[in-house]
Amino acid sequence: MQTERQELWRSTHLLTEDKKELARTVLDEIRRGRDVTKTLRSHPLRGGGYLNKSMLVAIYNEMVTAGEMQEDMRLLERIRMKPMRTLSGVTTVTVLTKPYPCPGKCIFCPTDVRMPKSYLPDEPGAMRGLEHDFDPYTQVRSRIEQLQSVGHPTDKVELLILGGTWSSYRRDYQEWFVRRCFDAMNRLHHEGHEDHKGNQKESSVDSVATSEALAHAHTFNETANHRNVGLVIETRPDEITPGELRWLRRLGVTKVQMGAQSLDDRILELNKRGHDVECTRRATALLRAAGFKIVLHWMPNLLGATPESDRADFARLWNDFCPDEIKIYPNQLLANAELYEYWQRGEFKPYTTQELIDLIADVKPTIPRYCRVNRVIRDIPSTHVVEGNRKTSLRQDVQGEMQRRGTHCECVRCREVRGKPIHLHLLRLDDLVYPAGAAEEHFISYVTPDDKLAGFIRLSLPGKDSPQTGISDLDGAALIREVHVYGQSLPVGAEKAGAAQHAGLGTRLLEKAEAIAKANGFERMAVISAVGTRGYYLERGFERGELYLTKDRL
Ligand code: SF4
Repeated sequence: MQTERQELWRSTHLLTEDKKELARTVLDEIRRGRDVTKTLRSHPLRGGGYLNKSMLVAIYNEMVTAGEMQEDMRLLERIRMKPMRTLSGVTTVTVLTKPYPCPGKCIFCPTDVRMPKSYLPDEPGAMRGLEHDFDPYTQVRSRIEQLQSVGHPTDKVELLILGGTWSSYRRDYQEWFVRRCFDAMNRLHHEGHEDHKGNQKESSVDSVATSEALAHAHTFNETANHRNVGLVIETRPDEITPGELRWLRRLGVTKVQMGAQSLDDRILELNKRGHDVECTRRATALLRAAGFKIVLHWMPNLLGATPESDRADFARLWNDFCPDEIKIYPNQLLANAELYEYWQRGEFKPYTTQELIDLIADVKPTIPRYCRVNRVIRDIPSTHVVEGNRKTSLRQDVQGEMQRRGTHCECVRCREVRGKPIHLHLLRLDDLVYPAGAAEEHFISYVTPDDKLAGFIRLSLPGKDSPQTGISDLDGAALIREVHVYGQSLPVGAEKAGAAQHAGLGTRLLEKAEAIAKANGFERMAVISAVGTRGYYLERGFERGELYLTKDRL
């Protein structure tokens, strides 16, 4: 992390005139079609060493801002570092809430007074929170600036709020925290500088009631340079109630991460989770009925589990719960968690790395095609792990093991089209229908001839036994829970031949979903829109409801 920052700082602040001149020459050659690495190598620096990509991006930005060069997306794409980060179509910005106690007493969960519950100060992804004293504004601003400086488009931002149990924080803090995240997105230009005009406009609302300020920040974001296309929080199943759903929608939340950990009451009790499986079932059904995207965390190797019981446990995920995304977080033995005492008494033994690889390689090919596996291990620095697996490259090891066995995973992540060009006329429309509790889910996707996902939509048709949310926008409505079209995230209006995001796939998927809803007797649709995508749905016939965008008379 530090290295990345230092490098960025050096690139943008310490480029001498000599280096700038050299970078201009290199950029010019690359623009004419020369290979990036070869060009960099053929222009060594006077004192030794070479220019790097972040320096090129810094000079590119400088030249475009000064009017010395026209914007050139193809060139930028070639010199950008780590192109994978934005290939799923949006840029994720992670922010941490302040240290705060959690109502949970889970024995595997680490405690560090400097951090929100369950996070470690040197955990990648959490460090930035500590560095910014958990200030939401500076966390968001610095991340956007950093991504821009290395050439990533940042006009579509998914905000990922991490830290213990979101619902246990005071609501005025939650409201303030989200508002400050939006303020940061609203006040920045594309180039990453504060927009002083916007700043003045925004500062006038700092003194008014917070809820009004949040609504104002939301409205402002609908047309801002950095639009929020997703807002994710993490919480416990026992915090999910109809009242909480309504509150989360007011904040603009679209996706909820929840710790299921196990679907076995005996294991939950042994690990002092403080809720049972029925509670997770109820919470999942409520979130689904309110159109939220659902991410479940699942933990193998909890106290009392065996690789065999974990295999059976994993299979239970696909009855009733059916998460849209999962994070597999194998339990890791840490000295600052209560589980450590069990280990000292000889009552707990972590799996070996090989046992974990075998287990995950066994279960991964069983994951349904509608689910995305976001993680197969948590990124905890190995120095914290007392005993058991220390490898954070488990995903690759599991991949290797599956290749050896001749099996493969068909989850959403493994099938994303990523940067490959797509040919619209070759795409196949697929409607995967599955029951999820009382609802009927349709995972409608456009698939390439080699079975890669170009885009998908999640349509949920509530059944008569689906839970009541008490939200009038949803009365009698079929729900659009997610629309996702892949391709490199491009600035709004930028064209890129063959990129799925701009090929109208989203519109086609919406039309298909509407037809399916109608054929199933629904006369209304509701979409859980992020604040920054409201405009997209308004242009496609949806209207503003209280908490959702809705369409009547299908
Ligand atoms: S609910 Fe989550 S954050 Fe709270 S103690 Fe349990 S694992 Fe840790």
